[in-house]
Amino acid sequence: MPSFRTFDQADVLNKRVLVRVDLNVPMEGGKVSDTTRIERVAPTILELADKGAKVILLSHFGRPKGRDPKRSLKPVAVAMADVVGRPVAFADDCIGATAEAAVAKLKPGGILCLENTRFHLGEEKNDRAFVDALAKLGDIWVNDAFSVAHRAHASTEGLGHKLPAYAGRSMQAELDALTKALEAPERPLAAIVGGAKVSTKLDLLGNLVAKVNVLMIGGGMANTFLAAQGKAVGKSLCEHNLAGTAREILDKATSRRCEIVLPVDAVVAQTFEAHAPSRVVPVDAVEADDMILDIGPTSVEHVVSVLARVKTLVWNGPFGAFELEPFDNGTVEVAEAAAELTAAGKLVSVAGGGDTVAALNAAGVADRFTYVSTAGGAFLEWMEGKALPGVEVLRTR
Ligand code: AMP
Repeated sequence: MPSFRTFDQADVLNKRVLVRVDLNVPMEGGKVSDTTRIERVAPTILELADKGAKVILLSHFGRPKGRDPKRSLKPVAVAMADVVGRPVAFADDCIGATAEAAVAKLKPGGILCLENTRFHLGEEKNDRAFVDALAKLGDIWVNDAFSVAHRAHASTEGLGHKLPAYAGRSMQAELDALTKALEAPERPLAAIVGGAKVSTKLDLLGNLVAKVNVLMIGGGMANTFLAAQGKAVGKSLCEHNLAGTAREILDKATSRRCEIVLPVDAVVAQTFEAHAPSRVVPVDAVEADDMILDIGPTSVEHVVSVLARVKTLVWNGPFGAFELEPFDNGTVEVAEAAAELTAAGKLVSVAGGGDTVAALNAAGVADRFTYVSTAGGAFLEWMEGKALPGVEVLRTR
C-alpha cells in the first residue's frame, strides 16, 4: 500500500475535480514546442474524464508578475486537446466569476483548463483567500505535478488542506519510483553524484552518505574531493575553500560505513572546448596547466564494477563536461552499463535533475532506466531528504 492517497480511493463521478498539473512547457512562436509534460499528465486526465469527473486543470506557466498575455495557458490548452484527443475548454481566469461560469458549464467527462495560476500573487504566497477562491471551484483536488511539489503554493499545497486530496497517476509513478530507490530500496544501494560544484550539492551529499552503501563522486565536484586529499588538480574547476567540508563528508562516510568511490584517473585538456587535445592521466599526475574534464577509463571500469554488484542506483549529475565531445565519454559509458543491467533485470536505476536527463538522453539510454525524473528542483530536494509540501499533503494520516 502506498503511504499516500490516490484517486482510486475517491468517487469522482459527477464531481468537480481540480487537477494540478505542470503545463510549464517550452514554447516557440506562440506554439508548444515540446509536449512531454502534457503527455505525462494525459493518463490522469483521461482516466478521470472516463470515470465521469468534471476535470478542471490548474497550472502555472513561467514566472509572470501578475497578469501577462505572454504567459497565457491558452495555447497550451490547444496542445492539450491535441494530446488527449478531446475538446479542452479554456477560461481566462482561474478564480472568480469567469472561472465559476466555465466550471458550471462542464459536463461529466468534460475537460476545462483554467488560466495561469500565477496571474494572481496569492498563488505563490499560498494566500488563504486565493486558496478559498480556487477551492470553491472543486469538490476534490488531485495533485499530478511532482515537479512543483517542493513549493508550498496555493494550487500545489494549499488546496490539499481545503479539499480531499489525492495523487494523480504521474505523481504516483514518481513517488513509487523514488520510494523504491531511496526510502525502501533493495540493497546494496549506490548513488552517483556528479556535476559542477560541491557547494550546490552539500545537503544532497550529506543525506546520501547516511543512506547509501556506495557513493560514487564524479564531475567537477570530484576535483574538490581530490584536492582535499592533497592532490594537485591544476586548472580544473575546484572549490578549494570547501576542502574542509569535503573532508567532513568523507569522515561521515567512514563512520556510516558508506564506501566512497572517487576517480583514479582523468581525461585532462588545456582548454574547455569540444575536441580539445586531451590525455589520460592518473589523478596524482595532473599538471599545473591541466584541466580535468572527464573520468578516465580505469575509473569507468571501477564504477561499472560497482554497478554490477549493487541492486539499486540513484544518479544525479554527469561524470564530466558532457556537453563537450569527447568529454561525455565517462558519463555515456556508465549510463550504457546501468541501462544494460536494468534491462537485464539486475538493477533498479533512478536518475534525475536537468543536466542528468540531458546527458542520459544524449547517451540514448533514458528509456532503459527504471525511471528518469524530469523534475529538477523537486528531485534534488527529495535526494536531499527534504519533505516536499505537495507530497506531504497527500500522505495518509
Ligand atoms: P550540475 O548542474 O551541478 O549537475 O552540473 C552539470 C555541469 O557540470 C555540466 O554543465 C558539466 O559540463 C559540468 N561539469 C561536469 N564535470 C566537469 C568538469 N570536470 N569540469 C568542468 N565542468 C564540469
